[in-house]
Amino acid sequence: MVKIKISVSEKCIGCGACIAIAPEIFEFDEDGFSKPKITETEDEKLIRKAREAEENCPVKAINIEKID
Ligand code: SF4
Repeated sequence: MVKIKISVSEKCIGCGACIAIAPEIFEFDEDGFSKPKITETEDEKLIRKAREAEENCPVKAINIEKID
């Protein structure tokens, strides 16, 4: 079972792409930037969505790390 850790760096420009792609995982913070609602998951569907968001982030602000 693969487990991942999700984070968003300060490079985020608040474009909203990741939130449109994966609203289960990302949301806007009070400053209008993305933050992860969940930081770790081993759910395959969520992992796929997180990777799709990572690929579509225009400034590569999403980091996905395998943790096992
Ligand atoms: S896709 Fe990237 S730049 Fe856009 S809101 Fe998400 S993390 Fe920020």
